[in-house]
Parts: sequence; C-alpha cells; structure tokens
Amino acid sequence: MFLRQDTRPVKVGNLTIGGSNEVIIQSMCTTKTADVEATVAEILRLEEAGCQLVRVTVNNEEAAAAIKEIKKRIHIPLVADIHFNYKLALLAIENGIDKVRINPGNIGRREKVEAVVNACKEKGIPIRIGVNAGSLEQHLLDKYGYPTPEAMVESALYHISILEELDFHDIIVSLKASDVPMAIAAYTKAAGIIKYPLHLGITEAGTLFTGTVKSAAGMGALLASGIGSTMRISLSADPVEEVKVARELLKTFGLITNAATLISCPTCGRLDIDLFSIANEVEDYIAKLKVPIKVSVLGCAVNGPGEAKEADIGIAGARGEGLLFRYGKMIRKVPEADMVDELKKEIDVIVKAYEET
Ligand code: SF4
Repeated sequence: MFLRQDTRPVKVGNLTIGGSNEVIIQSMCTTKTADVEATVAEILRLEEAGCQLVRVTVNNEEAAAAIKEIKKRIHIPLVADIHFNYKLALLAIENGIDKVRINPGNIGRREKVEAVVNACKEKGIPIRIGVNAGSLEQHLLDKYGYPTPEAMVESALYHISILEELDFHDIIVSLKASDVPMAIAAYTKAAGIIKYPLHLGITEAGTLFTGTVKSAAGMGALLASGIGSTMRISLSADPVEEVKVARELLKTFGLITNAATLISCPTCGRLDIDLFSIANEVEDYIAKLKVPIKVSVLGCAVNGPGEAKEADIGIAGARGEGLLFRYGKMIRKVPEADMVDELKKEIDVIVKAYEET
C-alpha cells in the first residue's frame, strides 16, 4: 500500500473523501440530466462497474429539478456540475444534491456566493473547486502569460480564500490540465500547500486508448507520490470505461481493496491455447467482482504454474486441455473446451468463501 498524503476529511453523502480513506472513483454522466430514465440507467451501470460518486451537468432548471427523482433511484452520492449560475446551485441543493462543483470566484456578487455557501453549510454539502488550465481567470493569464502550474495553484488558492472567508471548509480541489506534465506539477505543488482533498484528473485526455495512457501516466505519478483522494479518468468513451480504468490504476498501486486482478502471460512460441480471447473473457468476468482475488490465465503448462504462484486460481493451456492451478499447484485437468467455464466455477467458489468470511 502506498502512503497517502494526509488531508482534511470531507463528507460527501455516505462517503468520506480524504483523511485516511481509500481513493474514491468518480465518473460523469453523458446523458441529459433532465432525462431521468437515461441518467438513472447510466448511473446504475456505473455503480455496477464500481463507480462510487457520480457527477451530472446542471445546466438548466430542468436538470436541477431532475436531481430529486434521480437521487431516489441511485445508490451513490450525486454531484452537480455548475458553471457560474448560483440559482442552479441553490436549486440543486434544494433537490438533494450531495456535492456541488462550482468555482466561487465565478459566481459573481458576494451575496450570491454567500447564498450558495450558506445553503451548503445548512445541508452539510461540500464544494469542489475545479481549476482547469484551459479556463484560468484573465488576471492570472495576464500575470503569467499562459497557463502554468503556478497560475493553476494560484487560481485554486483564490477560490479557496473566498470560501474560507465565509468560514466554509468542506472543500475539495481539482487542478486539471490536458498537458500531463503541467497537471503533475500543479497537483504536486498544490499538495504541498493545500490541506483539502485533491480530486485528480487529466482533462480532455482523449479516446479509450490515448486517454487511458495519458491518465495512467499523469495520475500514476501522482498516486505513487501519495497525492490524490479521489479521481476521475476522463475519456471520450462510455463512462463505464472510465471506472474500469480507474479501478485498474488503483489496483496497480494497491490502493483498492475490493477488486479482482487478472494476471495473464505475455504469450510466446510455447502458447498452446487462444490466450487473447480467453484472457479477455476472464477479465470481463472478474471486472465486477468486489473481492481482492488474483486470477491467472497462462498460455502453457511449462512456465505457467511458476508465473501464477501469486494467484488464488488460474488456468494454464496444454494441448487439448487446460490445467487448473491454485496458488501455483495443479488441482485438476479439464478439457480445453470447458476450461473457461471451469475456471469461472472455481472463481465463484473462492468469491463465495471470501464473502462468507
Ligand atoms: Fe510463454 Fe508459457 Fe510463459 Fe505464456 S506462460 S509467456 S506461453 S512460457
């Protein structure tokens, strides 16, 4: 387990972000928020994938009004994404939102900021300040010339100071940039100064492939340094993919306790089975498991068992058959055609035993 940087714990619905808690996985709906059926359906898919907190756009009154019904039908805290319009923030709060993403410096007159802050205080709702390299305040662009990590941190401190002046401290901060080194530098600098939890993100990261690589590079560097209390992988793809990538990234650093891991061999000339499709099928099967087991899928019986020693259960291909292994020891042979089904049955047995303990 990598050490986590200590931050102020901030409650969001039934979750606590920061403090000594696990890194929380977020995603964002792609639906029109006012379309309750579509939004709830997407959130339920995200929940099943392991999403713990979900954000929706609140860009009009219909979207704000839909929050009440959406909240009744989902099981994870809901975040309203609001730009500028304090009335929409107030409506979202009134309708039961669990967290508001709004930059207080963009709301306008002080009484409008106070209205939002007071409503949040009254209901115990935190505010996420979302600094984005692409939309820094003009005075910072004038000062620095172009977006820099320093300008991003200064922007965050500016918005934080507005909330702190109103004695509001349930704050989460993000400093997103599409440029990975800039995001790493901004978050690293912020982590040394800001006591509030940081929400990690590489914005406009790209498609499933490029976005995954960029996000893993940026957030991986930060997570390895103990930075980050919550995260969203931003992809131009089904948001379920964002959650899958986030879970995989957290697994890499031992920062998630409720996820199964696949170990699959890189393949070589000794390969005796169609390992690519088998590994994909097993990966899909274990993706939704909420237990920390390791499953291995290996191409041959020569090196497979040794390579799978750390796995709870695994299969190695042999000519015309599969060898089932547990902790590196063979437990039985199965016909090749049945090997994936047999592996799934063994996985189910281990999961059941784990859940019963
Ligand atoms: Fe090659 Fe077998 Fe190792 Fe896979 S397990 S990489 S097939 S030696």
